[in-house]
Amino acid sequence: MTLKDHGLVIPDDPVICYIEGDGVGREITEVTLPVLDRAVEQAYGGTRRIVWLKLYAGKEAMNVYGEYLPADTLEAVAYYRVALKGPLETPMGSGIRSLNVTIRQTLNLYACVRPVTYISGVPSPVKHPEMVNMVVFRENTEDLYAGIEWKQGSREALKVIDFLNTEMGTRISLDSGVGVKPISVKRTKALVRAALDYALANGRKSVTLVTKGNIMKFTEGAFRAWGYEVAQQEYGDKIVTEKDVLDKFGGQAPEDKSTVKDRLADNMLQQILLYPEQYDVIATPNLNGDYISDALAAQVGGLGMAPGANLGDHIGVFEATHGTAPDIAGQGIVDPTALILSGELMLEYMGWQEAARMVHKAVQATIASRQVTKDLALQMDDAKELSTAEFGQAVLKNI
Ligand code: NAD
Repeated sequence: MTLKDHGLVIPDDPVICYIEGDGVGREITEVTLPVLDRAVEQAYGGTRRIVWLKLYAGKEAMNVYGEYLPADTLEAVAYYRVALKGPLETPMGSGIRSLNVTIRQTLNLYACVRPVTYISGVPSPVKHPEMVNMVVFRENTEDLYAGIEWKQGSREALKVIDFLNTEMGTRISLDSGVGVKPISVKRTKALVRAALDYALANGRKSVTLVTKGNIMKFTEGAFRAWGYEVAQQEYGDKIVTEKDVLDKFGGQAPEDKSTVKDRLADNMLQQILLYPEQYDVIATPNLNGDYISDALAAQVGGLGMAPGANLGDHIGVFEATHGTAPDIAGQGIVDPTALILSGELMLEYMGWQEAARMVHKAVQATIASRQVTKDLALQMDDAKELSTAEFGQAVLKNI
């Protein structure tokens, strides 16, 4: 893939990287790659194909390279620009905070994008899961997730507390651990821009900025202010604010515009349960986004069904929301749907919409025929329980 006129040029036979990952990673990858290959073959009659390039990270990389995250792997993803990734365990005591966070920060994948839609037939704890149709844009590199923190009692923690108490007038107890929450103009605006671009390109009705701006004014509150600034300064002719809708348009947003609004994060966790139909695209800092995406995933069937994309400027790493699921690894029962749907997002990102739609329809048809893996079968009365590999075969047959 190459860059031309600020856009990615995708050849008919692009090299796409994949990382199997730890735990259930290999099981879900083995099922997902053939599904994506079959969809591409069917959609384009053999004129397009993916050339898969295996990369190493996690325990497999430790065996081959002697390190968990080799520079080769990061360089290859940066060069080839698109990768499908299995979950990675954060090795305890390795000195590495999190391989996933390192990948996102090193490659500047500032937007974590998680579409949440309901697939008919999936068991759900809410009455109307079909009303959930949201895309969460979660800032991916800063906030409390930037990993700037010092252990209680350490020299560093004491030094920071001493500086804050003596120079900045705070009264932090000396026995505290300390974390720092940076939120920058640049990354906030990049994230909100990505959310607005997506909303406008896909005819989405609203973008909601979700923050705790009432309490954390200069981080979360600033995120909200910068979000409105981007929307009004750069997209002024394509959006209206919720305030304008009320003050100037009698409560009814113009058909051709997307509404920008904001909600406090705690309220938002109520809103997505009570009024999911009122929300569409969500733009939010890292920590809020983590809570909201898992809560939304639960509404439509749980972590096994939740796909995700980590996007930067012309670079994307696509992965399931769930982790390595060590409790079920190696048993052939893991649900590969989240990685398959992440592959669908990857095909969409490449502009291969026809293949993407085929993947989605095949997953829908398989679940509609009540052939599911254990996680869903346990919650459904008349389902046929399939192994991970059998579920993959069933999806393949439906393409
Ligand atoms: P997890 O998501 O791995 O598992 C939580 C629970 O959900 C487990 O009971 C698991 O069996 C179940 N589950 C998850 N995915 C499933 C699927 N596809 N099908 C059926 N059941 C599924 O979360 P965890 O146990 O908190 O984390 C385990 C490891 O994964 C940790 O080392 C964590 O750091 C890592 N992790 C990695 C990523 C990533 O790579 N992006 C994300 C989250 C967690």
